[in-house]
Amino acid sequence: QVGTIGSISVRLCSNQSAHSRKGTVSTADRMLRVLVDMDGVLADFEGGFLKKYRARYPDEPFIALDDRRGFWVSLQYGQLRSDLCEKAISIWESKGFFIDLDPLPGGVEAVKEMARMDDTDVFICTSPIKHYKHCPYEKYAWVEKHLGCDFLEQVILTRDKTLIAGDLLIDDKPDIQGVESTPAWEHILFTACHNKHLSIGASQRRLLSWSDDWRGILDSKRK
Ligand SMILES: [Mg+2]
Repeated sequence: QVGTIGSISVRLCSNQSAHSRKGTVSTADRMLRVLVDMDGVLADFEGGFLKKYRARYPDEPFIALDDRRGFWVSLQYGQLRSDLCEKAISIWESKGFFIDLDPLPGGVEAVKEMARMDDTDVFICTSPIKHYKHCPYEKYAWVEKHLGCDFLEQVILTRDKTLIAGDLLIDDKPDIQGVESTPAWEHILFTACHNKHLSIGASQRRLLSWSDDWRGILDSKRK
């Protein structure tokens, strides 16, 4: 089966495709469980946003990636001029925005390497926007396109990551909050244009990019 998203054809997975589990129930507690965020960690949300914003609104002011501050793009655009908040939102609510995002350097390769490790389970843990017309579908399509059909088993869509149990959560959002006040995971802050100037707590760790020592961070959590 072949489906079409914008100009891109994607091969759809048959539901007979068996997923090969590395761990069984009895060994699951010995597996290191890594949760990897998508936007700003695997997919270049900021770069993709700026490119499409400038194409759609060529006469409007924009914020260069070096000048980005704060997690919420729409907030900073709204501070630039109040009507730019809605214009920013219109970009990621549009069809094709999420599927067209380029992979960030080394991310896909790192996640594939984690998946091949015997003692590691990797999941992609991502929060879809509430305008659900395109985003959830395109997030699955992006995973299939860049990581392959079998990786769809590893996708967790949630608006509240504190509910998901794992050893590590690699995420570019500085403050990850939800109903669970003591999440199971250690949050590793993935450096992005909007958070690179933030000073973080002494106990918090950063991953500067996928060229940084992510293997060392995983090893530090193994029992
Ligand atoms: Mg993110």
